[in-house]
Amino acid sequence: MVKKQFAVIGLGRFGGSICRTLSEQGAEVLAVDIDEERVNEFTPIATHAVIADSTDESVLKSLGLRNFDHVIVAIGDNIHASILTTLILKELGVKKVTAKAQNDYHEKVLRKIGADFVIHPERDMGVRIANNITSTSVLDYLELSDKHSIVEVIAGKKMDGKTLSDLDVRANYGVNIVAIKEHGYINVSPRADQTVHEGDILIIIGSDPDIDRFKKQMLDNE
Ligand code: ADP
Repeated sequence: MVKKQFAVIGLGRFGGSICRTLSEQGAEVLAVDIDEERVNEFTPIATHAVIADSTDESVLKSLGLRNFDHVIVAIGDNIHASILTTLILKELGVKKVTAKAQNDYHEKVLRKIGADFVIHPERDMGVRIANNITSTSVLDYLELSDKHSIVEVIAGKKMDGKTLSDLDVRANYGVNIVAIKEHGYINVSPRADQTVHEGDILIIIGSDPDIDRFKKQMLDNE
């Protein structure tokens, strides 16, 4: 199978960590930064590391970026450079561009000019952590869109000994239990006759209001 080719533009804490992880996973990664020191740091890590100003269209062309499967624009504070780079990449025909936004306005512009994925790491992590710390039954939280999430919760006494069909959470709350973890074993397509025990970890998908209702009524201490 042909290896996927990734490029990471901007090797700060965020882009650097993406570049490092992709490289550890054996992916082909081109690391790009305008700053020589940053590039030197990634020379032993990435497949190629080059010093370049990504706002220069001819440079991006000469690096052959149009042929990459996925380009991540991880330029931090320089919003102008982040927008221009994303615009050029989409104009060059790069299929998947993920760009990091600094604020809501930046995010809006990135989406308008065609970024395929926009991430807002500080805000998203803040939401995730707040959701984790306000609840003793919620272990993890992943925002799928601004209205839908996946949450990992601990089943309590209220659910103990009941089967999924007894609980019928889809009809009662509009949420789906997509997986159940029990004693370290994960069942990713639980059947209706599966019994839930106190302490099991349930992975639930649904709209945020439905998940909230489910949490309040079905989990202990909520
Ligand atoms: P973080 O918050 O992820 O640490 P930084 O702002 O520190 O973000 O890092 C962004 C990186 O993007 C820096 O290493 C910077 O040199 C790089 N960068 C900024 N402008 C450009 C550009 N025009 N071309 C390439 N790299 C750039």
